[in-house]
Amino acid sequence: MRSTLLLFKVNQWAGHFFYWHRRSRLLLPGSCLICMQPLVGERDLCLTCAKQLPANTHCCQLCANTLPAEHQPPICHHCFKAPAAFDQVLAPWLYKKPFNKLVWEFKYNQNLAAGYLLLDLLFDALKNNPKHYDYLLVIPGQKKRIQQRGYHAPSWLAKRLALLSGIPFYKKGLIRIKDITSQQGLDRKSRLINPQGAFQASKVVAGKHLLLLDDVITTGASAHWAAKALKQKGAASVDVIVAAKAAI
Ligand SMILES: [Zn+2]
Ligand SMILES: [Zn+2]
Repeated sequence: MRSTLLLFKVNQWAGHFFYWHRRSRLLLPGSCLICMQPLVGERDLCLTCAKQLPANTHCCQLCANTLPAEHQPPICHHCFKAPAAFDQVLAPWLYKKPFNKLVWEFKYNQNLAAGYLLLDLLFDALKNNPKHYDYLLVIPGQKKRIQQRGYHAPSWLAKRLALLSGIPFYKKGLIRIKDITSQQGLDRKSRLINPQGAFQASKVVAGKHLLLLDDVITTGASAHWAAKALKQKGAASVDVIVAAKAAI
């Protein structure tokens, strides 16, 4: 009981700190993270660069694969042939210049200003989505990589997105039980089966509508096996939200 109260207090303080940190950006001058032009505002992104971000406008309604503008129905051939275990991917941006620079800065250079900007853009995507979610989860990272980088970028985003959106972050909803070999350099077929058996879900997810967060999605193989583990424990639905969709 005492530890629950303490945890609640810590969460409350974190929420206040986060709120004031964001408000302070309205007063302190910053600069656009893409063109470096000085600016004052809540976001480190100028209007010109915001307009040039590569939006993933014409995409598959299930997996967010880019499609030609005239493609009807808006479902890609991969999803027609073998739909993934997740229900839908929300991927508002493409992993292309200059957006990939933001992701790289956050993920590999620990640039938290880039992290806060990605967080705002993810929150924008979530605000435009009318669905209700019971829990926010992350695709758990590989131990070795978290040790190398010092933190897990999707968890950093999820903790803060939970504070902004009010969707509770359930860290232990999905755990990694197996590290896998790197997906880089593998062909599509090998990438799709590589993460099989890597995840285990908690029984608490039964009957719940879940939102699974990751930073970038490529083939969607990890998201598929993660969603499969969650649905095996009875999850009612699993949507995926990512900052960017990379080309396969
Ligand atoms: Zn700019
Ligand atoms: Zn698709």
